[in-house]
Amino acid sequence: MNIEKLTSEQLKSLVDGLNFAQKVDRSLGLIREAYQEFGDRLVVANSLGKDSVAVWHLAKQVSADIRGFIVTTRFKPAETVKFMKEEVARYPELKVFSSDDSLPDEKLYQTAPDLCCEILKVRPTRRAIEEMGVGCWVTGLRCTEGRTRTDYREIEERDQGLLKLNPILLWHEREVWQYLALNGVHVNPLYAQGYRSLGCWPCTHISNDPNERAGRWIGTSKCGGECGIHTRPLKEEKR
Ligand code: SF4
Repeated sequence: MNIEKLTSEQLKSLVDGLNFAQKVDRSLGLIREAYQEFGDRLVVANSLGKDSVAVWHLAKQVSADIRGFIVTTRFKPAETVKFMKEEVARYPELKVFSSDDSLPDEKLYQTAPDLCCEILKVRPTRRAIEEMGVGCWVTGLRCTEGRTRTDYREIEERDQGLLKLNPILLWHEREVWQYLALNGVHVNPLYAQGYRSLGCWPCTHISNDPNERAGRWIGTSKCGGECGIHTRPLKEEKR
């Protein structure tokens, strides 16, 4: 696949320039093209949030054989753990990764959330990519989701030899829900409680802020930010 040549401005104009059906077609086309090139080495990262289950459903329209991985942590809410088990039962081709490493501080999420995410999320993601032989990973990242997500591309190569495909980059939050409702996709029950962006329980709160990710890491320097899987190297450090 060619690395995305569109500028940030061109991408932004497409966010409001394309309608819902055009975006769905574009997303399917991106996944189809990548799957033709990478085959079994194309793998979907599934965080069990609304964007991930939309991307997972899109990928399954391209091929039922496409595999995925879930990175879970000891701090996931009970509802997410239950939903994860249901999803894995529906789709046995979803492989679960986690870390049993001990933490230097049981409340590391308060004292050093970046390190906590590195140990519990980023390292298992690296392991998933290595063990599953991933050449192209597919994510549910969207450029309208928050302050840290405005500068991504639909196709990126942040790590050499590892392509990252963000097929719903241009979708609005409303369009994700539109897709999920129209296709009867199962979603994490926490959304019914008012959450808009989901993660580990100590770092996820209900928020009415216009910023969709404002409820993440409230009270820390990471507020509204990222766990690191989209910002740290995924192939460099072998552990
Ligand atoms: S989201 Fe919070 S609890 Fe989960 S790994 Fe990151 S800092 Fe730790």
